[in-house]
Amino acid sequence: MSAIPTHCWCGHKVDIFLSRTPRNPGRRFYRCIIAIHRPGESHLFKWVDESILADIHRVDSTQQEFITQVQDLRQTLEQHLTVQEEGHTGKEEVFQYYDLLWFNGRPTTKNTNYPSI
Ligand SMILES: [Zn+2]
Repeated sequence: MSAIPTHCWCGHKVDIFLSRTPRNPGRRFYRCIIAIHRPGESHLFKWVDESILADIHRVDSTQQEFITQVQDLRQTLEQHLTVQEEGHTGKEEVFQYYDLLWFNGRPTTKNTNYPSI
C-alpha cells in the first residue's frame, strides 16, 4: 500500500499545499480542503517528501524480495537440470520449473512448446 495518501480520513480528497511556516518554508504537504478551512479539527497531514521516500523504500523492499525469489527459482531449476542431466528424473519435473519461470504473459501450464533439454 502506498504511503502517498489520496484521501483524508474524513473522506475528502487530499491536495498538495505549500508550507509557509518559518520551520518548513516551501515544504509541500498533503491535506484535505476541510482541514485548511478548519485548522482546529483533526485531519490527515503528511509531508510529501516523507511520503515519497517511504514509497521508494517500500518498492525497494518488494524488488529485493522479487530478486530473491527469482534467484531461488533459478537455483532450484539448475539443481533439477543437473539431476536431469545425470538421468535421475523425468522431463516433466523439469518442465514444471520452466512453467514457474514463464510468467508475465507466457503460458504457465500444459505448454507443449518446451525447449529442448
Ligand atoms: Zn479531512
